[in-house]
Amino acid sequence: MTSRKHVSKIHLYNTLTRKKEDFSPISTNEVRMYTCGPTVYNYPHIGNYRAYIFADVLKRVLVYNNFKVDHIMNLTDVDDKTIRESQKEKKGLKEFTEFYTQEFLKDVKALHILNPTKFTKATDYIDKMVEIIKKLLSNGLAYKSEDGSVYFSIKKFKNYGKLAQIELENQKENASGRIQTDEYDKDNVQDFALWKAWDEKDGDVFWKTDLGKGRPGWHIECSAMSMANLGEEIDIHTGGVDNIFPHHENEIAQSEGATGKQFVRYWMHNEWVLVDQKKMAKSFNNFYTLRDLIDKGIDPLAYRFWLLMANYRTRVNFVWEAIEAAQTALKRLYSLFLGLGGQTGSVHQEYQNKFTEYLNDDLNTPRALSLLWDVIKDENMSDADKKATILDFDKVFGLGFAELKAESIPENIKLLVEEREQARLDKDFKKSDKLREKINSLGYEIKDTPEGQKVAKL
Ligand code: AMP
Ligand code: ZN
Repeated sequence: MTSRKHVSKIHLYNTLTRKKEDFSPISTNEVRMYTCGPTVYNYPHIGNYRAYIFADVLKRVLVYNNFKVDHIMNLTDVDDKTIRESQKEKKGLKEFTEFYTQEFLKDVKALHILNPTKFTKATDYIDKMVEIIKKLLSNGLAYKSEDGSVYFSIKKFKNYGKLAQIELENQKENASGRIQTDEYDKDNVQDFALWKAWDEKDGDVFWKTDLGKGRPGWHIECSAMSMANLGEEIDIHTGGVDNIFPHHENEIAQSEGATGKQFVRYWMHNEWVLVDQKKMAKSFNNFYTLRDLIDKGIDPLAYRFWLLMANYRTRVNFVWEAIEAAQTALKRLYSLFLGLGGQTGSVHQEYQNKFTEYLNDDLNTPRALSLLWDVIKDENMSDADKKATILDFDKVFGLGFAELKAESIPENIKLLVEEREQARLDKDFKKSDKLREKINSLGYEIKDTPEGQKVAKL
């Protein structure tokens, strides 16, 4: 363990209190964290990936602060959408969701999102879901409807609405009915389905359990997977802001209703990626997939880099020009990094302290990134120390500096460099400047360092 952990406290914005709070986990050195993962029914759009890149950066910051992080991300492989779409394609649910799971995992890798401790599939946790629902039935917070479905009675749970900060009056007015669908908005504050009794539309998707023949509702899935893997009380739960209601509100109701304990200490949510100032969404048909970006020559890491330029709690508007500019800037950073040569020195303590301080302030990635540029430009640092410091920062950024390979310099450029070396030895600076211009015009940059000339691609 290094002393870095004590450089600055971690402050995180908690949606539950609408405040930045001091972060202190339940166990001293370990953080238990859950991320609501994708519904594997099609290709996620790049807006979705903001949720996973945000969770990844958060985890990396915690690890950078020397915490051990136990991280679960679920894969929703049974819900209204997966059933509907698999039927449209005339495929079995398992085969259908497995395909999109594999596609998701490819994107995760391309975006340098570190694998969680475990990816969990909802269909592997039906028993745990049934166990929680039975507890809720026995303590009077849930009831069976005429068709055998089980609903959560929100009026019986006195803290209902604490995360989404729903007005109680509003709740009373609207809470007269039940809602069967997995997704709905605040106009439908109603009793929600924990267990959906089988009906014809579900086809061959059902489980025969103590609750009868049927399938779980979406919300209970995350409560079950979180509790089964991380325990009844955890530190952090993440998702996009549209998960706050109803999904996370319902997770709290079910989990706390069943255990009587505080389910999650810090609820954290990323803001939206917009297109023309409107949320990127499948339903608005204004979305791009990672494949769309790659087809336009955009490196997935340029998208990651673009997101890091904004705080996760600000909305960002997607425009191609901005992504292209981000890609140019990232390539420039890569090239400057490669120009630092092969030696790795030591991490600059002051920069590292500042870096930690910025990130520990609710993940201020824009400031942390500007520090990266400061390191590159610092005239008082050796190239070897710059290299070590950038590699250290990249543990959080995940931009792949360590994997960069110096491109081989073409022979004609090498000859010009040698010629320039000779001109400098002859103190013919006019000639040396001319040769520098020539090298620049061919797309290469030359830097004079105490160790000699260094060449890199512009
Ligand atoms: P879904 O598959 O709809 O459950 O979405 C997966 C994740 O992406 C959730 O955490 C959502 O909150 C998040 N999300 C969806 N749309 C956007 C968007 N336009 N910008 C940022 N996050 C989003
Ligand atoms: Zn979830």
